[in-house]
Amino acid sequence: MKLVLIKYHYNREIHFYPTLAEEAWNTAAALDKIHFLQLSYMFFYQYMRGGNDLRIKALNGFKDILPEDIVLWRRVETVLRDVLERFHFSEIRLPILEKTDLFARSIGTDTDIVEKEMYTFIDKQVTMRPEATASLMRAYIEHNLHVAKPVQRLFTIGPMFRHERPQKGRLRQFHQMDVEVLGSAGPRLDAELMAMGSLMFSEIGVDVSLEINSLGCPECRPSYRKLLLEFIDQRLELLCDDCKRRSKTNPLRVLDCKKPGCREQVSEAPSVIEHLCETCSDHFSGVREDLKRLDVAFSVNKFMVRGLDYYVRTTFEFVTDELGAQSAVCAGGRYDGLIEMLGGPKVPGIGFAMGLERLVLLLKQKGQARDTVSEIDLFLAGLGKTASDHCFELMHALRLDGIKADMDFEAKSLKSQMKQADRAGAGYVLIIGDQELENMQAPLRNMATGVQTDLKLEAKSISRTIQEQNLH
Ligand SMILES: [Zn+2]
Ligand SMILES: [Zn+2]
Repeated sequence: MKLVLIKYHYNREIHFYPTLAEEAWNTAAALDKIHFLQLSYMFFYQYMRGGNDLRIKALNGFKDILPEDIVLWRRVETVLRDVLERFHFSEIRLPILEKTDLFARSIGTDTDIVEKEMYTFIDKQVTMRPEATASLMRAYIEHNLHVAKPVQRLFTIGPMFRHERPQKGRLRQFHQMDVEVLGSAGPRLDAELMAMGSLMFSEIGVDVSLEINSLGCPECRPSYRKLLLEFIDQRLELLCDDCKRRSKTNPLRVLDCKKPGCREQVSEAPSVIEHLCETCSDHFSGVREDLKRLDVAFSVNKFMVRGLDYYVRTTFEFVTDELGAQSAVCAGGRYDGLIEMLGGPKVPGIGFAMGLERLVLLLKQKGQARDTVSEIDLFLAGLGKTASDHCFELMHALRLDGIKADMDFEAKSLKSQMKQADRAGAGYVLIIGDQELENMQAPLRNMATGVQTDLKLEAKSISRTIQEQNLH
């Protein structure tokens, strides 16, 4: 027996018929509205397991982050926030939906992101942010943040959305930490940001190397671009189709094509840093000097470019080979003209974005998935209805007192309650039965050492004991 999936062309309804293949063809032939027909073993198995599967699953490329992984997420975020505070950054929280025009103007209409990867509600002309820089600039301009502080050091953490082909470590809803500093054009800030990124990775425990480059400025880039175009034109036939297209729209991007054939062709290409104007060249030297001053290791990658149009001068990436092939876990750069382009004041800026999924994946690979810290301080095991009522009251009083506590609501046996306490990683268990209620005293069991202490059944003395012991 096989199952047939029939899609109607007109109403798009889907029906599943359990039937023989031969019968299916007959059925199909009998229905003139049938658009196409396909045999599906998957549906067959679901049918055998008890009918059609009514469960709705998450969208392709969208992922739930389950409680067991949250430990790692929080560790990453805690380290990042802690380093950011040391570097005097303030958090800003931005909406996920923005006018489509914001991204079209800031990212550029001839980029992959705007051309094909944005989640846009066409009828409303709004888009789910594919990155955070544009939204942050919009907020900066809208709230006149340059007036409040001449140099604004801002960061934001949250989900971004791009309709890319899902692959390992690349999702359609992904999370980024985005850092931007607005109001300083000097090279020192660039070096400081890279030093901060480097510190973040070392505190999280990920081995990375820093690559830097300069993309020049509106003064020197046009003549370099011309040189590069001449070089590309001589080899156009040997480049991939994407590069042929890029040569027309964004020739710099030909330099970072990942295809081996293209890489070979551009290995001799003229590089931006060999054609910088004096100001850009001094700026780049300043960045390198300050990185050395702070003891931050780096190498110059003269073919590193950015897919986004607004980047000038310093550009950088942190790369790692801990995820298989070498890949970037953080990318950033300077964008001195962007704010003006979006209708804001003439203020320079630099920033970077860090993908959080990859950091979590790296920590997971390192076997840091298990955290030894208990989920709760105390599990209250009550035996019988009266004890259970008392536990419920006591638990609430303890929670008010700052204790992380839980209990069983299903009147289970002591054995199963102890199992529950163990699963929750409870530091202590308080066992209460009729006897204990009568004496108003109960044993508090330390789950790690097995030591039991008799305690007065009173919230204050219980919470004090646990808090004191937790300090050791
Ligand atoms: Zn320049
Ligand atoms: Zn190519």
